[in-house]
Amino acid sequence: MRGRPVRAEPYLDSLDSITGEVIGRFEVTTPAEVSRVVEHARGAQREWAPVRMSVRAKLLDRLAEVFKARRDEIAEVVTRENGKPLAEALFSEVLVSLDSIRWHASRAEQMLRPKRVGHHNPIFMGKRGRLEYEPWGVVAVISPWNYPIAIPVTSIVAAVMAGNAVVVKPSELVPWCGALLGELFDQAGFPVDLVQVIQGGGELGQALIEASPDKVIFTGSVATGRAVAEACARRLIPSVLELGGKDVMIVLSDADIETASSAAVWGSFTNCGQACLSVERIYVEPGVVDRFTELCFEKTKKLRMGSGLNPEIDVGPMIRSQQVERVERQLKDAVSHGARILTGGKRRPDLGACFFEPTVVTGVDSSMLLMQEETFGPVLAIQGVADAEEAVECANDSAFGLGASVWTRDSARGEAIARRLRSGAVMVNDVISCYGITEAPHGGRGASGWGRTHSRLGLLEMVQVKYVDRDVFPRGAKPWWFPYNRGLIEMAEGVFGTLFGAKAMDRGRAMVTAWKGYRKRRQ
Ligand code: NDP
Repeated sequence: MRGRPVRAEPYLDSLDSITGEVIGRFEVTTPAEVSRVVEHARGAQREWAPVRMSVRAKLLDRLAEVFKARRDEIAEVVTRENGKPLAEALFSEVLVSLDSIRWHASRAEQMLRPKRVGHHNPIFMGKRGRLEYEPWGVVAVISPWNYPIAIPVTSIVAAVMAGNAVVVKPSELVPWCGALLGELFDQAGFPVDLVQVIQGGGELGQALIEASPDKVIFTGSVATGRAVAEACARRLIPSVLELGGKDVMIVLSDADIETASSAAVWGSFTNCGQACLSVERIYVEPGVVDRFTELCFEKTKKLRMGSGLNPEIDVGPMIRSQQVERVERQLKDAVSHGARILTGGKRRPDLGACFFEPTVVTGVDSSMLLMQEETFGPVLAIQGVADAEEAVECANDSAFGLGASVWTRDSARGEAIARRLRSGAVMVNDVISCYGITEAPHGGRGASGWGRTHSRLGLLEMVQVKYVDRDVFPRGAKPWWFPYNRGLIEMAEGVFGTLFGAKAMDRGRAMVTAWKGYRKRRQ
């Protein structure tokens, strides 16, 4: 399989995740071209906005068919360029995308139907209010390399169903996935310029924001997120920021340790630990910590590393050597402060330049970089704690707040702890899979960002809410309009008493006062 050949320089190279060989070259959009791209998107959006929801949904159904038909090819491109095993590409990229496409096609219309607003205040009983949902216009989707299909697709389909046009800027590390995205939407028959993919580096993302789209959906690191937020603030562009995480797993002494250890191993090493929802800090209650650690060690030793194209492989390479260096730096710091590496901790140059062994570390604490900074690599770090209280304290002692999990046989206790964790999502007895639940909002707090993608809340990020009001008594001035007089003051007194009087009798008297004031106003 080859990437689309380049027609003109400059271009981005797609690198094979194992060998580093160039496997495709893709044209880039220069920053100077971006305002024209956004202008074209505006034109397409003007024609798209009046299109009926049922027609939009049909287009999404066609997109779903394209995804279904080309699923193996999509998965292969992701695996070759990003390195994750084929099974992960099929589940976490294709399936998550397909499910989101279908869900938006079948539910968005109902979720964006105008909603009646009831009025509790009798003063406004003669009014009929409703909420209407209108598209922003042009939505910019700036996405990372770690889930190069599912992350942009879930936002694109929400945006277009809501009546927006989209300009997508994928990461320069996955240009083949970016090109494929554009191709899939084209093949499904999306109107010209409604979904445009522009390829280039960070400066192109910056230029996209400078071209003043109406909303920015950004997924990436905290550092870039801060730059994006600043650029958006200068132009008063609303944003959703899906940033890094330092997800916690709390293992209580009554947990099913066999299951919890499998979850820890999968949660730490899926996508080679390069997931925003990766399990990065594990706090374990006494009584089970030794057995839990032993099981994690044994299960990690059994993981098979290699090319993700081989279906019998569990863990692929990391994306680039800078990522590997970050993991090495954090491990070095942890070891120098007393942490112990039970297994892993080394590169595997025999497999490829970016292979790093799945690593289990114990004896860690919150003073170490490994427990503070996002690792984004194959490290499973276990810290024994005195009890659940200490686990909650440690969990919340972080700038991040994306995902978390609690492991226990006592679901009431699990949920009670879940309520105390400062994070965007908490799973009791599972990890990460909330990302695949289309109805579950995805997003964080603190350094993990703001706003939500996925779910009804993610769809609502793609619209502006308009309150529309109709008066059922359209004739005659309202009593609170000019001119003011004593009658209005008397009426105000009566209205306060009617609405907020303590006793029924007081409220009745106040109603009479209000009526008298009203009559005086009309004389
Ligand atoms: P980056 O922040 O490096 O990049 C994200 C995107 O922003 C890329 O397309 C990048 O382009 C672009 N970009 C870079 N500079 C700018 C700029 N100044 N203005 C606008 N756009 C810019 O993140 P990574 O791609 O390395 O992704 C990994 C990070 O993403 C991790 O921290 C991870 O936790 C986070 N993430 C968060 C998720 C969530 O849902 N919360 C989900 C997945 C990942 P280019 O790559 O071409 O430089």
